[in-house]
Amino acid sequence: MDDTSKRLFTQARQVIPGGVNSPVRACRNVDSSPLFIAKAAGCRLTDADDREYIDFVLSWGAMLLGHAEPSVSAALRAAVDRGTSYGAPCRDEVALAEEIHAALPGVEMVRMVNSGTEAAMSALRLARAVTGRDKIVKFIGCYHGHADPFLAAAGSGVSTFSIPGTPGVPAAVTADTMLVPYNDIRAAEACFVTHGGQTAAVIAEPVAGNMGLVPPVPGFLEALRSLTRTHGALLIFDEVITGFRVAYGGAQTRFGIDPDLTVLGKIIGGGLPVGAFGGKKRYMEQLAPEGQVYQAGTLSGNPLAMAAGLATLRKLKTLNYNAIEERTRAFAAELGQIMRSRGAAVQTPSLASMFGIFFSEKKIRNLEDIKQCNQALFTSFYNQMRAQGIYIAPSAFETGMVSFAHTDGDFAKTLDAARAVRF
Ligand SMILES: *Cc1c(COP(=O)(O)O)cnc(C)c1O
Repeated sequence: MDDTSKRLFTQARQVIPGGVNSPVRACRNVDSSPLFIAKAAGCRLTDADDREYIDFVLSWGAMLLGHAEPSVSAALRAAVDRGTSYGAPCRDEVALAEEIHAALPGVEMVRMVNSGTEAAMSALRLARAVTGRDKIVKFIGCYHGHADPFLAAAGSGVSTFSIPGTPGVPAAVTADTMLVPYNDIRAAEACFVTHGGQTAAVIAEPVAGNMGLVPPVPGFLEALRSLTRTHGALLIFDEVITGFRVAYGGAQTRFGIDPDLTVLGKIIGGGLPVGAFGGKKRYMEQLAPEGQVYQAGTLSGNPLAMAAGLATLRKLKTLNYNAIEERTRAFAAELGQIMRSRGAAVQTPSLASMFGIFFSEKKIRNLEDIKQCNQALFTSFYNQMRAQGIYIAPSAFETGMVSFAHTDGDFAKTLDAARAVRF
C-alpha cells in the first residue's frame, strides 16, 4: 500500500546514507520505513501514493500554523519574484528581528542563522567568549542540534565528564560538557558547587521536547536562573521548539524566567531552513563585526526565510494560544483514556500545543523514566495509527505537535483510529 514510498526509499538508499537526510525520519525505531511526502496543506500530508494523513509531527514542530498557510504562501510567492538570495542586508531581516525582540523579553538583539544547530553552536561560542570559561552544563535527554559539544552521551552523576555520543567527536570537545539529569535541581546545584567557577553556561530546553514531552518541575527553571547568576555563568534557553509555541513569547514568557541567551529555530522560519540566537545587548554586541566573537553565514537572513518567518509570526500573533492549549489538553486526555480502556498502561501529558505518549505508569521527570517505557507498545501503536492515516513521530522520544489548522473533526478522526488499535 506504500508502494511508491517503498520504491523511492530503495532508490534513496543507493545515493543518500540510510535513504534519509535526518536519521529519525528513517522510521527504524518503529520497525517501519519512511513515507515520502508529495504535498501538504493544513494539518494534512499526502504521500507519494496519494494517501492522506493527519499530521502530528508538523515538520518537528515548525508548522504551528499548519502547512501552506495562505498568508505565508503568499508572502513566499511575492518574495521569490524579488530574488532568492542577496548576500546583503534586506528589510525583512530587520522586521523579523524586531518582531522576535518584541515577543521575547530576553532577546534584546538577535542574529539570524540557518538552523537550530547553528544557533545553539553560536550561542555557546558567545557564552564561552563573554565568560572566558569553557565548561557547560547540559541536561541528559535535551537536544541542541548536532554540533560536537552537545553530542554528549547520557552519562550519570553530577560531574561526570562525558564521553562522545558519536564517533567523530573528539573526546576533548565534549570533555567540558557536564551532564545533569533534567528536572534534577540537586544535581545541578552539586555541579555548580564543584565547577561553578569554570562554567560558562547552562543550556536547557525550558520544556523538554526531544525525549517526549517533559515539562519543568516547579522551581527547576528558577533554580537554573539563580545558580547561573550566583556563579557568573550564562543561562541559555534553547527555545527552538518552545519559542512561539508554548506561548507567543516562548517559555521565558510563560514561566517568567529571563535567560541571558535564547536559541530559536523551527517556527520562526515558517517552514524554511532557519535558526536564530539572541539575548542581552551587552553579550550580543560582542559578536563580529561589533565585537571579537566571529560568526557568519552566506545565506543568513535569507529573504525567503525572512518572508516566511515574518508572515508566520504576524499570523500567530492574531491567534488564540489559550484555545489551542485547551483543545490539545482535551484531545490528549481523551487519547489516553481510550488507550487505557483498551488495556494499555499509558499517559498522555500535554502542555500548550504539545503532547506526549508514554507507555508507562511511572511519573515522567527525565530520560531515565522515559527509557522505562514500553517500546513494543509504542511501535505497535505507531504502525496501527499510520495504517489508518494518522501520522505521529516515529519515535517514543519525540513530542506530539498540534497546529492551529487541526479541527475538531481531525481530532475525532484520530481518536476513532485510536479506538481501533489492538494492544
Ligand atoms: C530541532 C531542535 C534543534 C536543532 O535544530 P535544527 O534546525 O534541526 O538544526 C535544536 N534544539 C532544539 C530544542 C530542537 O528541537
